Amino acid sequence: MKAKHWYDYLWVYAIIYFALGFFNILFAWLGMIDFLLPLFLAIFGGNKFFCNHLCGRGQLFSKLGTDLKCSRCKPTPRWMSSKWFRYGFLLFFLTMFGNMMFQTYLVAAGAASLREAIKLFWTFRVPWSWTYTGGTVADWVAQFSFGFYSLMLTSLLLGLIVMVLYKPRTWCAFCPMGTMTQGICKLKNKEL
Ligand code: SF4
Repeated sequence: MKAKHWYDYLWVYAIIYFALGFFNILFAWLGMIDFLLPLFLAIFGGNKFFCNHLCGRGQLFSKLGTDLKCSRCKPTPRWMSSKWFRYGFLLFFLTMFGNMMFQTYLVAAGAASLREAIKLFWTFRVPWSWTYTGGTVADWVAQFSFGFYSLMLTSLLLGLIVMVLYKPRTWCAFCPMGTMTQGICKLKNKEL
């Protein structure tokens, strides 16, 4: 049997991260680790170590889909891993990320007020005010938390849906972080 490493249990961290968002939205900032670390490793290491070993979300899909048999294990539709879809989804995701940053900027500049809600699937606004006590931190810090958690939770839900419908890690076929790190690694290897 393969020896277990500490990072084989990062799926627990993924569960804790999403659970914390139900109690205190400011913990959403921890998600920046999942956002920056893969890019850092790809840019400086030229590898996908994050995807292969450190991604709690990917591990969670494997656990639920394979070990707990929550996946139908049907083949992933080919279009989902096609270039146009992966890059199209990345572009869409980055646009939504940019929009979230803009909302944060508006709050920081005093041009908009803090919205204590999350937006699921970029469409459905869900009240989430019990997770934050007004005035704890600067409004823009809280706004970023609500916006970033919305993105994280939406992508988790999308991942869970495709996990059930297709293979456990179908989300990885078009995950924006995976697409970005793969692109960076390709460029780095070309350079070398
Ligand atoms: S593709 Fe995305 S979800 Fe899959 S392992 Fe990489 S970062 Fe995690």
